[in-house]
Amino acid sequence: MPPNQKLPMLVTDGPGRRPTQAEAEEAVRTLIRWAGDDPTREGLLETPSRVARAYGEWFSGYDQDAGAVLRRTFAEVGGYDEIVVLKAIAFSSHCEHHMAPITGFVHIGYLPRRRVVGISKLARLVHAFARRLQVQERLTAEIADTLQEVLQPRGVAVMVEATHGCMTTRGVDAREATMVTSRMLGAFRENPATRREFFAAIGK
Ligand code: ZN
Repeated sequence: MPPNQKLPMLVTDGPGRRPTQAEAEEAVRTLIRWAGDDPTREGLLETPSRVARAYGEWFSGYDQDAGAVLRRTFAEVGGYDEIVVLKAIAFSSHCEHHMAPITGFVHIGYLPRRRVVGISKLARLVHAFARRLQVQERLTAEIADTLQEVLQPRGVAVMVEATHGCMTTRGVDAREATMVTSRMLGAFRENPATRREFFAAIGK
């Protein structure tokens, strides 16, 4: 999908209505019963409200404008024209097929033209996209495309390495499998030396 065509900010089951916390908790009780347990036993009484609050954090990305994170603050580069690399930004997300955890690291490189951003902004950009229902390929592309669009650098490189709970805990036997995705734009796509510099910086 084009970079600007983001997922809807609110998921609704009717015109404009987001379910209430009570409705979310009831849905969790349904899943507990469906799994075969009793949501009224003592150990599970508070679970639905905890799950709903946890979902509030895991999916807080829907309420964040990822581009705005970068747009608000940046610095002029002052003649710096080498690549900037931030490696191993830890993230957790959830796959949109199973709502199972995806955990791993994002490596980001860019070749500034006029602007650079602080480390914490890059991490917030990652979390704004990770804390949604995702597929790893789209997460990778959204991070790269947003950086390209907002900073307009000479190039962007994003590499994501992650394990998927839906693979490591169930189904096919792939406990150790790590999925690797990358997106190279501008100089990182066109110039093999720039690309090599990125991979060397992240230890690949
Ligand atoms: Zn999955």
